[in-house]
Amino acid sequence: MIALLKKILLVDLLQGLWVTFRNQHPKHLYTEQYPLERPKVAERFRGAPRLNINPDNGETLCISCDLCAKACPENLIVVTSVRNEQTKRKDLTTFTYDTSRCMFCGLCEDACPVDALELTQDFELASYTREGLIWDRQMLEEGPKPTRYTR
Ligand code: SF4
Ligand code: SF4
Repeated sequence: MIALLKKILLVDLLQGLWVTFRNQHPKHLYTEQYPLERPKVAERFRGAPRLNINPDNGETLCISCDLCAKACPENLIVVTSVRNEQTKRKDLTTFTYDTSRCMFCGLCEDACPVDALELTQDFELASYTREGLIWDRQMLEEGPKPTRYTR
């Protein structure tokens, strides 16, 4: 009899709706309002690659040793250089990094002996084209410039 009354009075439905409405108070909302509110990423998050430059002279820290390219299991880094006859060192000419194939394992930055290559906390890597996902040296040095929305 009680079960029948519950069915007639839609008690289960009302209980379910009560749970729903009770959790709709703004203090219970956990959805991040991205891009208006930017999420905090974990300290050890590995995101957009960056090719570091020396802040004192603006020159790249990369010594063109190619170790990052050799360490990469995806073979997505290509480093080219020319031998400088005066310094007898290799001067970096191009550096490409295909972010579309990267799994952000960090093996490349671990292999770099001079901390030139770094996976930063930038996470906005989207591009409208496949070509846009292949970063050249300039892009790697300047870093991504995502649109910052204010409203
Ligand atoms: S993070 Fe991993 S997959 Fe990406 S470039 Fe470095 S070594 Fe390759
Ligand atoms: S391992 Fe470091 S120094 Fe060597 S080529 Fe890669 S980024 Fe440059």
